Formats: sequence, structure tokens, C-alpha cells
Amino acid sequence: MTRIVYCNGEYLPEAEAKVSIFDRGFLMADGVYEVTSVIGGKLIDFDGHAKRLERSLSELEMRNPVSMDELLQIHRDLIEKNALVEGGIYLQITRGAPSDRDFAWPNPDEVKGGLVLFTFAKNLVEMPSVKTGIKVISIEDIRWGRRDIKTVQLLYPSWGKMMAKKKGCDDAWMVEDGFVTEGTSNNAYIVKGNKIITRGLSNDILHGITRAAILRFAAEAQMEVEERNFTIAEAQEADEAFITSATTFVQPVVEIDGAKIGEGVPGKLSLRLREIYIEESLKSAV
Ligand code: PMP
Repeated sequence: MTRIVYCNGEYLPEAEAKVSIFDRGFLMADGVYEVTSVIGGKLIDFDGHAKRLERSLSELEMRNPVSMDELLQIHRDLIEKNALVEGGIYLQITRGAPSDRDFAWPNPDEVKGGLVLFTFAKNLVEMPSVKTGIKVISIEDIRWGRRDIKTVQLLYPSWGKMMAKKKGCDDAWMVEDGFVTEGTSNNAYIVKGNKIITRGLSNDILHGITRAAILRFAAEAQMEVEERNFTIAEAQEADEAFITSATTFVQPVVEIDGAKIGEGVPGKLSLRLREIYIEESLKSAV
């Protein structure tokens, strides 16, 4: 089955979808994105992703080429056209394609933003890495200062992932001024006893939609939550560690820079949180 994607107003077979070489997403990483997961053909936390998208756009003074209602409809159309049951939808909005390359932003009345969306099929609920846990390395966080905006400039996180792979690991936790900021494409947590510790929100990290849900569900389940900085050394001494993101939900971390976390197997609290997350977010899936 050929994948049907959405490209600037049209539903097209993926091979026919084209964007201009002048698109500012391509030339300058002048674009923002969202990834929303799909389980049972339904979108998980669409509202959360839509709100963050609006914030990313407004911080960068970028316009959404369509309304949020239309955006939801496009998501639904793509799920239907591709008979998507489990996986996700990638969405990208750029500042469009002026007729040339220029550092100055084009006038949004003259240049319409670019909008592309595509689906991907993936097993999210049953992931082998949940049983084994993942291994992470630490790397220096040398990204720009507005990590709260979900932009498509992902070269460093992508490079970080490769550094981890070269060391036989799965991902990298980035460290700034001695403290963990986040994973290359996820938020980072440690667990001590019944307490979940994760860095507080600021411009230093992406405000994960899964993070917000997890912290809410954790509090509801009488787990303690502390939003504060932690170091790699503290993480290596923790009882458990895990990451969250829209497409991995909760993934246990079993090793950091070669040091085993706890017994070196996925932690009980992490696994319980994963179950709660899946159960609870399905209730509000649309
Ligand atoms: N931090 C970074 C740097 C990310 O790229 C992501 C996923 N895009 C996250 C955190 C997790 O965010 P979410 O839970 O909204 O997927």
C-alpha cells in the first residue's frame, strides 16, 4: 500500500509530494514540528500537541497555514487513508518558500507557510526495548538556548544519537553546567524510592507533552514528584531511570555511561508508570 501524505493542501502518494528548494525549513531549519502518537487508530493527547504547536509558532512569529480544526481533520484523514492502527503522525510547518534565500523573514501576507504531514506505522504498546531497558551515554549539551521551541533544527540531537550508537548504546542524555537537560528526543527522569525526579521546565528543555501527562498521572497515583536538576553521578546511583516521549511513552533506562542503574533491569515504578500512561491516555484519545 502506497503511503498517502499531506503536502501543502493536497493528499498525495508519498513519491509525488514535493516541496520547493526555497522552502525555509530546508534552507534554514526555519520550521517547527510535532509528532502525535496513534493507538487503535486514535490520536493520543492531540490537544497537548496542538497547544505546544501554537506556542512554538507564536514564539517564532510564524503563522499556521490552516486552523487547528483543519489540522485535526488532516490527522484523521491521514489515519483513514493509510488505515493506520498504531504508530504516529509527523507534522511540520515552515515559514514557506519565498522566491530566494534571505535571512530576513518573508512577509507572511505574501508567503504562505509550508505544511506537510505523514503517518508512520510502529508498534508502540509492545516495544522490545521496554523489556530490556535502554542504555544511554552522556554528552555535552551544545544546542541553542530556545529548546522549549520544537524546531526542526535537530542536527545535534541526531549526532548525539549516533555517538550513542557508536558506543553500543541507544541514546544520549545531554548535560549542561553539570546537570542533565534531556535526552536527544525525550525527557529524562530518575527515581529514588517512591520519588520521581526530573528537571523543571525552562527554555533549557522541550516541554514534553508526555512529561506533562506522566507527572499528572504520577501525582494521581500517589507517587512523589520533584522537579529539579540532577547530575549523571546522581542518576547512576538512582534506583531507576527512564525517558518519556510521544512515541516511546515511558522507556526504562538500565545503564548510564556504563554504570548499571539499580539491578540493571527495567524498574518497577517505571513499568507501572508506562502502564498507567497507556491506560489513561487511551481514555482521552480522539
Ligand atoms: N525533548 C526533546 C528534545 C524531544 O525532541 C522530545 C520529543 N520530540 C521530547 C523531549 C519529548 O516530548 P514529547 O513527550 O512531547 O514527545
